[in-house]
Amino acid sequence: MSADPDQRRRFIFEYANVRGELIHLDHSYREVLRRHDYPAPVARLLGEAMAAAGLLAATIKFQGSLILQIQGSGPVTMAVASASHASELRAVARHGERDVPDGTLAELFGEGYLAITIDPEESNDRYQGIVPLQSEGLAEAVDGYFAQSEQLPTRIWLACDGKSAAGLLLQRLPDAPNPDADAWDRAEHLASTIRPEELLKLAIPDIIRRLFHEEDIRLYPPEPLRFHCPCSRERVASALYSLGRDEAESIIAEQQEIETHCDFCGQRYAFDSVDVEQLFSGEGDSSPPGRTRH
Ligand SMILES: [Zn+2]
Repeated sequence: MSADPDQRRRFIFEYANVRGELIHLDHSYREVLRRHDYPAPVARLLGEAMAAAGLLAATIKFQGSLILQIQGSGPVTMAVASASHASELRAVARHGERDVPDGTLAELFGEGYLAITIDPEESNDRYQGIVPLQSEGLAEAVDGYFAQSEQLPTRIWLACDGKSAAGLLLQRLPDAPNPDADAWDRAEHLASTIRPEELLKLAIPDIIRRLFHEEDIRLYPPEPLRFHCPCSRERVASALYSLGRDEAESIIAEQQEIETHCDFCGQRYAFDSVDVEQLFSGEGDSSPPGRTRH
């Protein structure tokens, strides 16, 4: 039995430049599975992707979203998980054949890549890093991403059983005068002994005890996490606006309305000729007029 609701907890090594995060997802993960009928290997991968996005988002100070995306040309063509600074998670995958065989990341996606994007809310200042897919699993791919980047040394461990997802992250902080020079190697070695079922089933304080009982660890309070999709009629209207009036009117002429569904949450958005007329009647204004309709 899992003792934790959806949450993330930071911990630090009191006398060393090492910090960590632990994440546990139940409800938020099941909200993602409820919206699509995923084959088991895809469902497990999405759980790991959500855990990874939630862990990585905790390591940066930002307002916006951290997006973890895997793209390929195999049985699975895309998996995306994002985590916002407000602790909101969402995820979606696309796949071809109904039955996706279990396999390594490279077998699931074929030729592909892993991209990690930081998308700030209030600016166009996106940061994106990309590595080709070569690895066994998602955790190895994220480790590879950090090994190639100039960011802080970071390791990640992930687990998902199709019902819940969990993960552990360790990060080596910049060297200050440090009396415990072996701490990073020791922490990494100890963390590597975690088994997937322990990550999934043990409460977070028990995981800390299990791994680091001989270390001085400070465990911070839990931060609750939840499923939330930030899509809105205004955002769809704004995308429609950028298509241009001619294009929008020609779709209306053909199909009477412009209909779209949010990939992440399934919400339907429809615009008829009156909506489109209204959308473009303010042309010249700095922003498209939006209105909420549920
Ligand atoms: Zn949505």
